[in-house]
Amino acid sequence: MQIAQQILFVLLSAAAIWLFSRKAMQLVRNIRIGRSVNLSDNPGERTRNLLLLAFGQKKMFRNPLVGVLHFFVYAGFVIINIEVLEIVLDGIFGTHRLFAPMLGGFYTFLINAFEILAVLVIIPCVIFLVRRNIIKLRRFVSHDLDGWPRSDANYILITEIVLMCLFLMLNASDTLLQARGVEHYAAHPTGNFVISQFLQPLLSGTGDNGLVLTERLCWWLHIVGIFAFLNYLPYSKHLHIVLAFPNAYFNKLLPKGKMDNMLSIQNEVLYAMQPELAPADTPAPEKFGAKDVQDLTWKNLLDAYSCTECGRCSAACPATITGKKLSPRKIMMDTRDRAEIVGRNITANGSFQDDGKSLLHDHITVEELRACTSCNACVQECPVSINPLDIIFQLRRYLVMEESNAPAEWTGMFGNIENNFAPWKFSPDERDKWTQDV
Ligand code: SF4
Ligand code: SF4
Repeated sequence: MQIAQQILFVLLSAAAIWLFSRKAMQLVRNIRIGRSVNLSDNPGERTRNLLLLAFGQKKMFRNPLVGVLHFFVYAGFVIINIEVLEIVLDGIFGTHRLFAPMLGGFYTFLINAFEILAVLVIIPCVIFLVRRNIIKLRRFVSHDLDGWPRSDANYILITEIVLMCLFLMLNASDTLLQARGVEHYAAHPTGNFVISQFLQPLLSGTGDNGLVLTERLCWWLHIVGIFAFLNYLPYSKHLHIVLAFPNAYFNKLLPKGKMDNMLSIQNEVLYAMQPELAPADTPAPEKFGAKDVQDLTWKNLLDAYSCTECGRCSAACPATITGKKLSPRKIMMDTRDRAEIVGRNITANGSFQDDGKSLLHDHITVEELRACTSCNACVQECPVSINPLDIIFQLRRYLVMEESNAPAEWTGMFGNIENNFAPWKFSPDERDKWTQDV
């Protein structure tokens, strides 16, 4: 029986790791669909961003209560999973609490700390579920979350609660079996743990066989749940618990209001206004701006996969607030959805085969793009250093420069800039005329 469990465990672990690795490689491939951009400059400032924004969750603490609750879920979940190392080794070797005899009293201290953390994970998860489903915060009930994204958030919170409860019930049944001197469990007694001891009365009426069954059930469900969580992660917004780190590191270091100039356009302006500064023989770009995910940079796509769908960007966006069609959260979700479609196309065909669709028009509409005021509020608010505006700019550039798709008011302004070097329709020679009456 024991050896059968060990074989089953090894097969299950191998399958879970293989499936996860395969999906992780597809994810990396999908992110690399984007254009290359060099973001290796200034490693000191990038490391600082990594520590402050990702590890320290600096922006989450702008609301201290939510920041603390989120930190408990994140830190608790990560730290408790150190316990998984022992569970995996026990599963492979058929041992019982392998680390207990090695670590002695420190082992009891660790498990006590994990149990306290488990409670500190459960409480915020319950609060977050209430916020989403009972209080219904505005940013969690808007239409861009309809369907799968709304369920996804709930599934993850419920799974975390279940995993933590299984961990506590596992310890409660185990320590009870130790106290009863049941073989395999009593060999290395650990004594009761700080939280699970209060769950023992729920199990004390169960016979030894029933208790062993409960302990095994909790053990298996706990580890299967963790493997399932691991493989669910790449399909979920909770991928941010991994991608927030590289995303913070590769964050844009330019001041928020500073736009990346398009070199080719900049050179055109130089030819017109300061030809002596214009470089000769600058090749014209194949395309101005971006139409599809292949035209965006890999950082834009990393942004899309890192989005937590929290909606803080949309809650601060003046276009969303005033009822326009634009929601920066939807821009990120659409970009990720399109990257997934293109990725699946590549997997099926070996290389991308034109499917007659694109990010611009089929996912993100002209109306959405025109509604953006370029205010940067979404960039400022995002807790995981995402820049929806950068994607909007690139799509809008394609719209205007490749499709000449702009409202009449803009077209007039573009003509004036081209002819008069200013948005107004006065000739440059007349520009100073207003001073004559002063
Ligand atoms: S930059 Fe555009 S998308 Fe971002 S908050 Fe401002 S208006 Fe909204
Ligand atoms: S872009 Fe940032 S702020 Fe907006 S939903 Fe995604 S994670 Fe939240």
